[in-house]
Amino acid sequence: MTFTKKITAPVCETETAINSKNQNFNIENSKNQNSDNNNYNILEQGCTGVTVPDNDENITKINEEIIKKFEPKKKDTIPLSESYERLGYINKALLVKGCGTFLEFISGENKHTLHNANFCKDRLCPLCSWRRSYKIFGQVSKIMNVIQNDYEFIFLTLTVPNVTASELPSKIDEMQKAWINLTKYNKRFKGAVCGYFKALEVTHNKNKYSKSFDTYHPHYHTILAVNKSYYTSKNYIKQSEWLDMWRKYMKDESITQVDVRKCTNKDKSECEKSEKALSSAVAEVAKYATKSSDYIIPWSESLTDSSVNAFLSALSNRRLCSFGGVFDKTRKLLKLEDIENGDLIHLDDKVRSDVAHQIYRYSWGCGVYKLTAVERIVNPLLEISEDENI
Ligand SMILES: [Zn+2]
Repeated sequence: MTFTKKITAPVCETETAINSKNQNFNIENSKNQNSDNNNYNILEQGCTGVTVPDNDENITKINEEIIKKFEPKKKDTIPLSESYERLGYINKALLVKGCGTFLEFISGENKHTLHNANFCKDRLCPLCSWRRSYKIFGQVSKIMNVIQNDYEFIFLTLTVPNVTASELPSKIDEMQKAWINLTKYNKRFKGAVCGYFKALEVTHNKNKYSKSFDTYHPHYHTILAVNKSYYTSKNYIKQSEWLDMWRKYMKDESITQVDVRKCTNKDKSECEKSEKALSSAVAEVAKYATKSSDYIIPWSESLTDSSVNAFLSALSNRRLCSFGGVFDKTRKLLKLEDIENGDLIHLDDKVRSDVAHQIYRYSWGCGVYKLTAVERIVNPLLEISEDENI
């Protein structure tokens, strides 16, 4: 059990402060909520603010993260919500609009981490997509860190020619079928590749002056695990062979591009040794299916709506990331949760909740996040020992 202490000193302005107690939040993973909710120092509407110590470094760091990361994504949920509303998806509009209106961070010893939030998990939600990308990156990195002593990695990107919105769902179906046939039945692939991570990405051409304006570009980013001897063995597959194989399984000779590389870092020796270089390469590959800038188009409501519809029908009810072979085995060994439907809050373990010192609550209102509550957690055992010393 923990006890709370209220701290005093004004932090945020008045009218826009949201009483988070009164909002009907759909709080994800409610088990992880602090049990002492009633003890929060929550701003009431019209009150002058919560109070914190002047030298609270955690607040500075959390504010920085909120301004740089959370706020831009949260702002993008508004035009998406408006588009859903125009398209008649009222429930989606409400869910996305309410996404991330509540954020709770915990801190301890100069570190902080997101502890609770109300994320909507909509496929196109900019805030949730960003959290999902973060999660995908984390999981893929963990797996690669475990297996990197035994395997080399290849980054393979498989593309198809651009398609219209109406062609997009069936084209992705074809790609999925081609991938299954390639991985299950192709002897060269099976001889060389010991495991993979695959992610679908779809980009949208919004350049009015381009010949392929308003077309979509679905492609697979994959990371393949191969044996250390791959580059000198008969199993080595050169780029032209990858292209032939992809053309064959897509039944499309017009495909011109298949990108294959060992690592994005130019310096081979550095790349092989440096986890940082590997991380940056993985970050490029392990991203979520869409960028909100591909369907939230500030200069055209109609193009925004048609793009939102196109992405929605192409991506709904579809797995966008998958693991195979040694990637999948390691994922299971590490007991990593479902990458697409799992928790979007606890993506890392920067601060354990049992050693947390402080809780900071933020609410969304008038286009910005505001600190609405600060709670200090006092470990009762420490309190007792302090008393005894006296
Ligand atoms: Zn969301």
